[in-house]
Amino acid sequence: MPDTILELHGLDAHYGDFQALYGIDLHVTEGEVLAIIGSNGAGKTTMMRSISGLLSNRRDQIRYRGGAIGSLRADEVALKGIALVPEGRQLFPSLSVEENLLIGGQVGRQGHWDLKTLYDLFPILEERRNVPSTSLSGGQQQMVAIGRALMSNPDLILFDEISLGLAPVIIKDIYAALPGIISQGMSAVIVEQDISKALSVSSRVYCLQEGRVSLEGASDTVSREEISRAYFGID
Ligand code: ATP
Repeated sequence: MPDTILELHGLDAHYGDFQALYGIDLHVTEGEVLAIIGSNGAGKTTMMRSISGLLSNRRDQIRYRGGAIGSLRADEVALKGIALVPEGRQLFPSLSVEENLLIGGQVGRQGHWDLKTLYDLFPILEERRNVPSTSLSGGQQQMVAIGRALMSNPDLILFDEISLGLAPVIIKDIYAALPGIISQGMSAVIVEQDISKALSVSSRVYCLQEGRVSLEGASDTVSREEISRAYFGID
């Protein structure tokens, strides 16, 4: 049995008086790709931000490799080995491609991923390494965002809306790079709007609905009917 790397125990999250997550229980095992689906506003981004330390939670609600990390800051979480590829990419617009990548290296650990291994993964980024990140296409910016996360050599990588707003051909390229990323011994959590894609890359899937887990199952056995019920709350 593979070890559990990440556990959420009754995770709640609030924005002021508004409660966005209600008692989420979830786990990720070593080397696993886990998919998170759910409609707009279901709480997927809030969950990713909580895990990565961008939202503060109660200490024990998030455990990583057995240790409580719910109250750690984002930089402390990065040092533990968790990296986020945020929704909307959030690159530093005034910095070049390479400078954006190097920032990822500064917040994390040393390991397999450095500029060389990253440029082997996404050769276009080496060609464009000195241009401002904002002059790249959306797909290339997503590669930079993924590269920046990899540069911290995480054990767990969180992808928030990995393919949102990208052309189908680019999405194919990004997904084609995933096995090469995961094979380095990493675990991954992927938030994905495209349900077929989510199921095809993951071993298990969770659906969120209005801040609660509405479905948890094995990606290859969960039925379309169960997903529709969990996603839209219809019977
Ligand atoms: P999307 O696919 O639209 O990104 P999501 O599943 O990621 O949706 P969240 O962005 O986590 O959902 O939002 C969950 C709930 O929290 C929504 O009702 C949203 O309006 C609310 N919310 C998100 N961010 C904030 C914020 N900064 N302040 C107040 N409410 C927020």
